[in-house]
Amino acid sequence: MRGKTDPKVLVAGAGPVGLSTALTLKERNIPIEIVERDDRPGTHSYALALHPRTLDRMRHWGVADKLEAFSVPVRKLVFCDHEQPRYSLDLTQVPGQESGLLVVGQDHLETALLGPLEAAGVPIRWSHRLAGLKQTEDGVELELERLMEGMSGYAMARLEWQVDKEVSGHASYVVGADGHFSMVRRKLGIEFPKVASTQSFAVFEFKTNFQHHNEARIVIGDEGVSVLWPLPGGYCRWGFEIAEAAAEQYSRDKDRLFMQVGSQGYHVLEAEMLEEMIRHRAPWFDGSIGSFRWRMIVRFEKRLAERFGDGRIWLAGDAGHLTGPVGMQSMNIGIGEGEALAHILADLVEGKGDGKGLQQYSEQREREWKALMGLSMRLKERSGTEPFLGSNADRILKSLPASLDSLPAFAKALKLELESC
Ligand SMILES: Cc1cc2nc3c(=O)[nH]c(=O)nc-3n(C[C@H](O)[C@H](O)[C@H](O)COP(=O)(O)OP(=O)(O)OC[C@H]3O[C@@H](n4cnc5c(N)ncnc54)[C@H](O)[C@@H]3O)c2cc1C
Repeated sequence: MRGKTDPKVLVAGAGPVGLSTALTLKERNIPIEIVERDDRPGTHSYALALHPRTLDRMRHWGVADKLEAFSVPVRKLVFCDHEQPRYSLDLTQVPGQESGLLVVGQDHLETALLGPLEAAGVPIRWSHRLAGLKQTEDGVELELERLMEGMSGYAMARLEWQVDKEVSGHASYVVGADGHFSMVRRKLGIEFPKVASTQSFAVFEFKTNFQHHNEARIVIGDEGVSVLWPLPGGYCRWGFEIAEAAAEQYSRDKDRLFMQVGSQGYHVLEAEMLEEMIRHRAPWFDGSIGSFRWRMIVRFEKRLAERFGDGRIWLAGDAGHLTGPVGMQSMNIGIGEGEALAHILADLVEGKGDGKGLQQYSEQREREWKALMGLSMRLKERSGTEPFLGSNADRILKSLPASLDSLPAFAKALKLELESC
């Protein structure tokens, strides 16, 4: 990795944000390399809806067609209470949102994004962990660890990743798209404080005959927010917000090889609990509960990096922000961050930028996330607001598939007022 073939930009992390960053850099003909500590792309749906702007990017990169076979379009968001649907938002009528959302699992998205990168011969080092980095005058010195599967020496042997080889390298710039426990962010010493309370969800994906009519349903009630997404192949995903105590054992780690299909002894993941939650929170759900494909509990902390980088090392995606799952904001906004950052770095590599672009990038990230997390903006009732929306305006803000740019159009369509706070 040293010498003539040094990448100009090293992207750490082959999640959706790292891959999108890499695609943009590749389009700009910037020599890049991706390092990913796992040995393959993700194997679960995780974040599963693409916002219209993300879908435009997929079309631009020529991967939208590949996603179609694994997707369901969503044209309406239906807000419900614990008794019935209360308000239906037709996305096709919201300026900028006309194409609606595309529900497609993150695993399919990551695989599709890899296609053009592999076709263009972009080097991707799977099973390589970025372990250290140091800024110098002309770039960043890198320490990578090649990982391989080995057996632990415990009484009960189990497979675990072990360092097989250490590699050093150099790049002009580094993008840390290495997820919520970002090594890049930690090495830069950037604080990642909690900015709002954690939400935990019990998530169930199962076969159903529910007629979804291309709608996603968001249920708001005393126990929190629940969300129903239609999935391709006659499946659906229900996510129910649950008390923190039931979730504390779980982390947000992507378990790429382990398919969790059982309840793992957690009462809240038993089929009877799902039936109970549906009976109580969504009695209108008349679909069958067929075979489970995936069940899990996942915690969503709300964190925001105090800045998005320094010098030659910058962050994008979950490395810089964490928020709740309902509006699918983390991944979609993260993909936009990767694209924006890639253009700024490409300009610098081409000798066009002056470095101010990076500072502005960091400030814009802070502005956008503070608004979406309800820290600097809020929605409130105005004349003509449907009472259910008015009394839940703060939770609706965090559940919208919105960005800072599209918030005013969503507010108008919902007859809510958007104001600074
Ligand atoms: C179980 C689960 C369910 C989720 N559900 C939702 C949802 O319903 N809605 C929603 O909006 N979001 C959801 N998310 C969050 C969503 O998956 C993330 O927002 C999205 O993946 C962020 O993309 P990213 O590329 O920034 O980070 P990631 O997808 O986390 O990718 C980071 C990559 O970096 C790699 N990496 C980490 N450290 C290193 C290192 N030192 N060197 C090299 N590589 C490294 C990781 O292996 C990983 O592949 C869910 C996440 C999980 C785990």
